[in-house]
Amino acid sequence: MKILIVVDMQNDFLTGSLKTKDATEIIPKIKKVVEEYKKNGMPVIFTKDTHTDSYLLTQEGKALPVIHCIKNTYGWEICDELKNINYGEVFEKNTFGSIELFENLKKQYNSNIDEITFCGVCTDICVVSNAIIAKAYFPEVKIVILEDCTKGVTEESHLSALSTLKSCQCIIRKEC
Ligand SMILES: [Zn+2]
Repeated sequence: MKILIVVDMQNDFLTGSLKTKDATEIIPKIKKVVEEYKKNGMPVIFTKDTHTDSYLLTQEGKALPVIHCIKNTYGWEICDELKNINYGEVFEKNTFGSIELFENLKKQYNSNIDEITFCGVCTDICVVSNAIIAKAYFPEVKIVILEDCTKGVTEESHLSALSTLKSCQCIIRKEC
């Protein structure tokens, strides 16, 4: 079984307070990939960066004092184009990477997972964090990054994250 993880395609990261340069370009490409998974009945999980009003008191908030993805605000919502597909589960996480996400996958799908594919933003923060956790959690599962369906904080940091992921034996692919 193949699982798709769409990382943090939320308004704040696309058009809002922490918008990633050119990230809206990848929305139609991700939509196509999600539709493909939907057609084949394969699981899709949308992660949502999720903070509370006390964000600025967290370590992340102290290092990055830009309020974003406060639960139940517009910026926290998945962008309309992907939200409207109405396919896939949502997983809220309060930091970059989530161990719980992969614990849940293990519980739900046990040993039936052959491949976990990542897309979304930002390549160099939440995509890399979760892909590396997935690789540690499932050493015998292929971990794939769709490079054309991710964007980094900068092009340079995007490429350097992909290079790190490749060093860690993740598979970098253009399309699914
Ligand atoms: Zn955040």
